[in-house]
Amino acid sequence: MRAVRLTGPKRLELVDLPEPTPAEGEVVLRVAAAGICGSDLSCYKTGVFSGSVLGHEFSGVVAQTGGGVDGYAPGEAVLVDPKVPCGSCADCLGGASYRCVSALTLGPGGARDGAFAELVSVPAHCLYPVPSGLRIEDACLAEPLAVAIHGIERSGAKAGEDAIVAGLGPIGLLAVAALRARGAGTITGIDPVEVRRHLAISLGADRVMARIADVPSGASLVLECTGKADLLQDVTNLAAAGGRVVLLGVPIEESKVTTMVWVVREVSVIGSVASGPEDFRASAELLAREPGIGAIITRRISLEELPAAFSELGVSPADGKVVAEPAR
Ligand SMILES: [Zn+2]
Ligand SMILES: [Zn+2]
Repeated sequence: MRAVRLTGPKRLELVDLPEPTPAEGEVVLRVAAAGICGSDLSCYKTGVFSGSVLGHEFSGVVAQTGGGVDGYAPGEAVLVDPKVPCGSCADCLGGASYRCVSALTLGPGGARDGAFAELVSVPAHCLYPVPSGLRIEDACLAEPLAVAIHGIERSGAKAGEDAIVAGLGPIGLLAVAALRARGAGTITGIDPVEVRRHLAISLGADRVMARIADVPSGASLVLECTGKADLLQDVTNLAAAGGRVVLLGVPIEESKVTTMVWVVREVSVIGSVASGPEDFRASAELLAREPGIGAIITRRISLEELPAAFSELGVSPADGKVVAEPAR
């Protein structure tokens, strides 16, 4: 089968791999759609998970089930929560298995092969049925939308509360959609890329700005979705006194910040990673209820086009979500 493997920093290669067979408790899927995530781009730049096929945001059709798998039959459309928690660490035992180190690193598209391939084998516990109303080609948005929903849950966002979303890449755009569905007040989006600002308006933002400096006033809730270390101070400065800033972006560089501003204005800075099962279910339901969210997918490409798309996105991202469809 065709697959795209990471072979080192900035090296993705189209390769021919043997078709996977499902291990005990696993299911082989024919991949329908697999989104490129910011963390895939970080792996691409650094070479982390070299040797693996990336791609952890995906949907597909059951091709074959392994021993001990009940409830899934060939032909069924499924979406995938790509986390494989260890089950024995403090996070797993404490009910937060989504942030277990194994969950974040050992799943498909991490240490094991992911979905930038025609077929992928995944543990059956990762699967959710695609709800009716959701197209399988858009169901790969369930994972990143769940990440945005998790951050909003962590913030304790209230109905009618104004919010600022800094950075309108896929996570920021999905956060706008999730805030709107939750009944937020005025939603302000910020991004230098015009296409992304237009998408934010179509997903429910009330106003959009190209630059942080253009935002006329702060808000009690700020979602940091730029992932840019050098913007952290300016983004957190958007929080009103007593407000919360949720960090959804994942910068790999260090930030230089003056925390005194947060102290004297009593700003709460909240980290948020991945998503729990309730976020995932809420995400799939929201996608089925609001199929227009699929508009954030601005480009659908073949596996052959994937290496070039990675190098473009690493330099100047001008798209919403880019999704590979291995059947193309
Ligand atoms: Zn992701
Ligand atoms: Zn664990």
